[in-house]
Amino acid sequence: MICKSCKKDFPSKYYFVTESICQECFNLLNDQEKQQLLDEKDSLKIEEAAERIIQGHALKCPVCGNKQFWKRKTLMNTPGMTFLGLDWANREAENYVCDGCGYILWFLREE
Ligand SMILES: [Zn+2]
Ligand SMILES: [Zn+2]
Repeated sequence: MICKSCKKDFPSKYYFVTESICQECFNLLNDQEKQQLLDEKDSLKIEEAAERIIQGHALKCPVCGNKQFWKRKTLMNTPGMTFLGLDWANREAENYVCDGCGYILWFLREE
């Protein structure tokens, strides 16, 4: 992966804050720029509410029974996630968030 800002090549997403900016470059930005990048990152990764099928099963919220979920991806290498074990590092989890009550379902899948 190549940082769009400094053009350095990094071995994995672990060194990146967003899809295009490495942690080093990110730390050089001012607070406003950082926030803007993080906002963009979130909006890029969110898919709007829809019915979701996981391995042939339609998702249904265990709390409210709703079938509309929006989807986002979360990198598992954030601080606080690492206590779960090294196996989880650098993986991307898929989150399906119930559009009705906000309940979050987590899926960890190999790419
Ligand atoms: Zn960089
Ligand atoms: Zn729900």
